[in-house]
Amino acid sequence: MSSLNILTIPKYEKKLREKSNDLKIDLIATPEMQKFFKELAETMFAANGLGLAAPQVARQIRVIAVNVAGLAHIFINPHITKKSLFKDIVEEGCLSVPGRYGKVKRPKKITMEYLDKTGQWHKQKFTGLTNRVIQHEIDHLDGLLFIDKLIK
Ligand SMILES: [Zn+2]
Repeated sequence: MSSLNILTIPKYEKKLREKSNDLKIDLIATPEMQKFFKELAETMFAANGLGLAAPQVARQIRVIAVNVAGLAHIFINPHITKKSLFKDIVEEGCLSVPGRYGKVKRPKKITMEYLDKTGQWHKQKFTGLTNRVIQHEIDHLDGLLFIDKLIK
């Protein structure tokens, strides 16, 4: 089991604010990328995280790992195509923002298109905790942190 280094603020704020690029589909099946997916998931579990985005471990690619009931799901080039009008306010934290927690308002339901780690395309609805974690992790791909969205 190998853990990658998780970038934290304030030291790596500039890096964490960068926007990540889509992963080229041809690269998904490469041993190097398959190894990275595994390491991203292992790093998430080792840090007791509910999710982890590639830029948090210094890779500017649009890949996120999400802990769904104890299993790591890898979502590649995720794209939210629909958001519910109804929103929830829930307290969040972040492995890149140690020691800080705060309430964030997010849509209760999303529809997301993504590729899985075998390169297969999916369109799927998400609700509940997984929905929240996905939205938080996609924010990382756009250089956003939950502290930008705190409810005053
Ligand atoms: Zn985070």
